[in-house]
Amino acid sequence: MRNEIRGAIDALAESGRAGRDGLKALIALKDQDETSYLRSRAAEASEKVFSRAVYLRGLIEFTNYCKNDCLYCGIRRSNAACERYRLTADQIVGCADQGYELGFRTIVLQGGEDMTFSRDDICRIVSRMKENHPDAAVTLSVGERDRESYKAWFDAGADRYLLREETGNAELYKKLHPAAQTWENRIRCLYDLKDIGYQVGCGFMVGAPYQTADDIVDELEFYIGFRPHMIGIGPFIPHKDTPFAGMPAGTADMTLNLISILRLMFPDALLPATTALGTISPRGREDGILAGANVVMPNLSPAGVRAKYLLYDGKICTGDEAAECRFCMERRIESVGHHVEVSRGDHPSFRK
Ligand code: SAH
Repeated sequence: MRNEIRGAIDALAESGRAGRDGLKALIALKDQDETSYLRSRAAEASEKVFSRAVYLRGLIEFTNYCKNDCLYCGIRRSNAACERYRLTADQIVGCADQGYELGFRTIVLQGGEDMTFSRDDICRIVSRMKENHPDAAVTLSVGERDRESYKAWFDAGADRYLLREETGNAELYKKLHPAAQTWENRIRCLYDLKDIGYQVGCGFMVGAPYQTADDIVDELEFYIGFRPHMIGIGPFIPHKDTPFAGMPAGTADMTLNLISILRLMFPDALLPATTALGTISPRGREDGILAGANVVMPNLSPAGVRAKYLLYDGKICTGDEAAECRFCMERRIESVGHHVEVSRGDHPSFRK
């Protein structure tokens, strides 16, 4: 192992910082001894705070209508080949009930930016879910809205919000989105959400088109200032009906390096081993847990709509039922010596 690499990993483990050049070197690590050392230091840090517990979030993909046109995303507005669907409020609440039965204590509602779900519609759905299951957390991931909506949903009982910033700087953001979507508004949303009192999840795609190691360090520096409660990263995977169809995918190796780096920088953060990581590599989620991740998000969407929520090509688990995903995930977690914890899995700073 190169001395400067060991030094950077040790510095990161001890102080949570490694400088721009140190971070750039760690992001790109390929040597097996070096990556194993990085991952083992991250696993140690994770075990100290979370004792090998992995939290489950049940994901309901409730609509694939979207008014946005992100160049990388399969459900972007301009994709005429995308077969659209939206679940009814009763279907959404029914999926959440089923998730609760299966032992999920966090339900995530994710969708495209579908404005037919008004502020009040979402309030009603959140209230019904919280009424049925007061001990479960509700996470929303429905994109950029005004502060008043975020506040109304929080008051209706929503606990958490996932909104990936996607990039750590406005320049790269412009290359991945049309001009109508601005990085400034996305960041404004994140600060509003935090200020209102949500536990907030950020994140980005590893190996997104045009992304450099410097861009990734910008993300990491953004997190130092913003302090997200959760950081969700997964490899970029091209979708055939988008402008980025021909772009190369991100790699599992770089994603795993970054999970470990994030774990060492933010020992108490919630870090998911994402479906995109499981898509790019068959053992991706298990490796993610071993690299320091402590959250998985099995799919709870009705089997009939899953194949339509295709953000990228080749997405796994689109033919399964909720119960299959739940128990498959538990076996995978146990196969690497970790265990599922049936609890809300709040960020340590939010535990009562
Ligand atoms: N509309 C919501 C949910 C977006 S989908 C929102 O704006 O937050 C959730 C995440 O999937 C996105 O934030 C993006 O980072 C990721 N994603 C989209 N297309 C992808 C692709 N082609 N490969 C990998 N991840 C992708």
